Amino acid sequence: MNYYSLNRQAPDASFREAVIRGLAPDKGLYFPESITPLPKSFFDNIDALSYSEIAFEAIKQFIVPEIPEDQLKRIIEETLSFDFPVVELTENISTLELFHGPTMAFKDVGARFMARCLGYFNKANTEEVTVLVATSGDTGGAVANGFLGVKGVNVVILYPSGKVSDIQEKQLTTLGQNITALEVDGVFDDCQDMVKRAFLDDALTSQMQLTSANSINVARWLPQLFYFMFAYKQLHNKHNDIVFTVPSGNFGNICAGMMAQQLGLPVKHFVAANNANHVVTTYLQTQEYNPQPTTPTISNAMDVGNPSNFVRIQEIYKNDFETLKANLTSYHFTDDATKTAMLELYKNHNYVADPHGAVGYLGCKDYLKTNPNAHCVFLETAHPVKFLDVVEEVVEEKQPLPKQIQAVMDKEKASIKISNYEELKGFLLSKN
Ligand SMILES: *Cc1c(COP(=O)(O)O)cnc(C)c1O
Repeated sequence: MNYYSLNRQAPDASFREAVIRGLAPDKGLYFPESITPLPKSFFDNIDALSYSEIAFEAIKQFIVPEIPEDQLKRIIEETLSFDFPVVELTENISTLELFHGPTMAFKDVGARFMARCLGYFNKANTEEVTVLVATSGDTGGAVANGFLGVKGVNVVILYPSGKVSDIQEKQLTTLGQNITALEVDGVFDDCQDMVKRAFLDDALTSQMQLTSANSINVARWLPQLFYFMFAYKQLHNKHNDIVFTVPSGNFGNICAGMMAQQLGLPVKHFVAANNANHVVTTYLQTQEYNPQPTTPTISNAMDVGNPSNFVRIQEIYKNDFETLKANLTSYHFTDDATKTAMLELYKNHNYVADPHGAVGYLGCKDYLKTNPNAHCVFLETAHPVKFLDVVEEVVEEKQPLPKQIQAVMDKEKASIKISNYEELKGFLLSKN
């Protein structure tokens, strides 16, 4: 399968090239040249298929033969080594828990899948890649863990010193092997700026293959479509009119859900649930897309002022505003409303949600006001202990640490302190 750049000023790329580059040379996002729906029988018989079988059937057209079938099956098996349970809260609302992976963040699946694709492409040791990421906390841990021990891939993570939680810092700094954590004297935007500068620095990119590991990369973005199929498998015998509410930041996850819909998954509608960063909500009301500076919130993995995957969503719906509106609704919520929702979930449904999931729950409630017959599934994108401060403040109870979190808390932190771009560049060149 070839991929084209959404800026349409670059040559088409193979899956391999798209994964290794991340972004096309014209700075456009890559998009698959065709999407062939799966037969109806696939969805009718989904109960008989395992998660790995579903995932393989759903994604193979985008990847085979560049990765052969048997290798793709292995990559999927290794990626999906944990559960994706749906928990029904009411007759009309369920949550799909995406936090049962090694770092308890939904990005585990995309990171593990992408890492193994890169590992496959480097099997002859010819395609050594350095993955460079800036993190405000949650993403970095999933990337670091997903790439741990993958041959030919070095991971360099920049995080703002003193600005991530203890748990998050431990997840970034205790892995060793091919993972290096750079502790930046600054804020997240400083980390982000340094990473962007590195990608534009010819003195670096002529020496080493740099790539990113965010949802811009097709190998991190596409496997997220599995989630929606797994939820359908668990719910389709009990409910019709399934609607997905996705707590959204860069809109990669929801956009992957729309790819599942293009593959034929019966989805009635998508709801993007946002915090104070709500360019898409405004766009759907006014048809004007105005990127904004980010506003910090308690659901900080969604603090994005210019969602990178929105161009892919527009491509899926052929840049037609009415088609987009017929498939997507967007709501946004304040931090106060989010905390109230967390308390309500706890008191009424005995469910401890993290702030991102709680924003999703609010999206379901709003959607159901005008669509009372739908069954609305909100994606719970992080385990509540990943956002321990606000969760314990709201539910007023100490939360037990799951075993994979406890295990990293007991390890020694190792990081390298840097304070400017020259130090980053020096570090990267010295590793080369
Ligand atoms: C990354 C993230 C999101 C947002 O996902 P996008 O694909 O960027 O829209 C939501 N919740 C959590 C916990 C995240 O880490």
